[in-house]
Amino acid sequence: MKNFMLAILAVVFMGCNSNAQKNSSQTTSNFEVTKSEQEWKRILTPQQFEVLRKAGTERPYSSELNDVEEPGTFVCAGCGNELYKTEHKFESGTGWPSFDRAIEGGVEYGSDTKLGYSRDEIHCADCGGHLGHVFNDGPRETTGKRHCMNGVAMKFIPDSKEKI
Ligand SMILES: [Zn+2]
Repeated sequence: MKNFMLAILAVVFMGCNSNAQKNSSQTTSNFEVTKSEQEWKRILTPQQFEVLRKAGTERPYSSELNDVEEPGTFVCAGCGNELYKTEHKFESGTGWPSFDRAIEGGVEYGSDTKLGYSRDEIHCADCGGHLGHVFNDGPRETTGKRHCMNGVAMKFIPDSKEKI
């Protein structure tokens, strides 16, 4: 009877293993950086996960990146890809960090992927993490675009840090 129970247990465990393998190999994407949902959960905070991987939106005025004025680069919080420069940041009054343009090649827009996002959606070109949205009411004297970003989806690297 004991052996019989062990045999059942062995079958159950094997079943679990093969399921786990199936799940991880299901991660298909055209992005350079691909991780399973579980892997993302391990490296991101719950707030970062909610925005980057679930296309959530942070509360306005909740990000300390709103107030950044010093020269530097905003990178993806998921994969470190360079997205925006402080010189293209402007005060939009929305409570979200706003830029009139992205670093070339840093971001992609919803229409470029099969993720089902709308065309104004912005995501990281390297990992596909959701970052924010783009609108046409930005500063007229520059691009006229307003990239409305979730601060939690980005990290700021001041230029001064690189010089040390
Ligand atoms: Zn990324």
